[in-house]
Amino acid sequence: MSTAGPRVVVAGSINMDIVLSAHRHPLPGETISGQRVQFFAGGKGANQAIAAHRLGAAAQLVGRIGDDLFGRDLRNFLVGEGLAFDQIYPSKGASGTALIVVVPTGENTIVVVPGANGQLSAADVEVEIHPDDVLISQLEIPIATVTHFFGRGRSVGARTLLNAAPAQLLPAELLLLIDILIVNETELAILSGRTVQPDSPQSVAAAAQLLQRAIETVVVTLGAHGAVACRGTDLLVVPGRRVQAIDATGAGDCFVGALAARLAAGEALEQALGFANVAASLCVERPGAAGAMPTLGQVQAVLQ
Ligand code: ATP
Repeated sequence: MSTAGPRVVVAGSINMDIVLSAHRHPLPGETISGQRVQFFAGGKGANQAIAAHRLGAAAQLVGRIGDDLFGRDLRNFLVGEGLAFDQIYPSKGASGTALIVVVPTGENTIVVVPGANGQLSAADVEVEIHPDDVLISQLEIPIATVTHFFGRGRSVGARTLLNAAPAQLLPAELLLLIDILIVNETELAILSGRTVQPDSPQSVAAAAQLLQRAIETVVVTLGAHGAVACRGTDLLVVPGRRVQAIDATGAGDCFVGALAARLAAGEALEQALGFANVAASLCVERPGAAGAMPTLGQVQAVLQ
């Protein structure tokens, strides 16, 4: 990783996703036969760091993996992607693991065990942070660790982006440390307590404004409808691109990593949002999560 210039520093989760395909979900106590098993390296932290890295940012991932077999595979995957491994620490026991059962109706069930991600501590995020860096975190690691990480970032003047996923109520101490909050429509509805209509920017803005009491900029991703950003009283609407959607897994992570990469490169929020929307739309055209993140050249080819 290059240490020159602004960086994207991600403190977050690293998971092995085990995806089982079956014709239906089993009932409690029942065993059924499935059709396919696939293993994907993922976790929101790893996905967002890989997106930022592929899109040209100097990305640094801070996380933990277990000393199990998945830990070895995750390490090989991240090193293969070219991410620096010096701030990914070993933990005793299991790596973060998600068991995802996929059925033809598309109604998936997921059990995530945080494993090593749950051990990422405040001391672990005592990494070097520069004023021009853009920090990203999510809620698959302890919230106290996110708060410490952002507090350190803010103390040197770095920008902080929180992807509040999976949604949970945010303590006041953390709310005060967020420059840009990024949520999808479901997370916005949970955090604001309001119903959100993804095809109505005004309905999205009304809910986002409730969160803007503490945070100046709230970005809401809306799947095929694109994204809406509320910055102060400004409403920025980014229409979705028409694409052949194959697999939306990781699209939100791609959007977050891409937005951070462009902000770190010095782009204004308006342009960075447009770039992130294109990057995420390319991600949904391919299967998988981390492996589906586009490169800088692929996004630039669309933007030309
Ligand atoms: P996931 O949990 O699957 O990663 P998410 O719910 O966090 O996704 P979404 O709002 O579904 O995030 O998608 C993130 C971004 O991806 C959108 O803002 C948009 O830019 C792009 N996107 C997602 N789905 C589509 C689609 N069908 N067509 C075009 N762009 C899409």
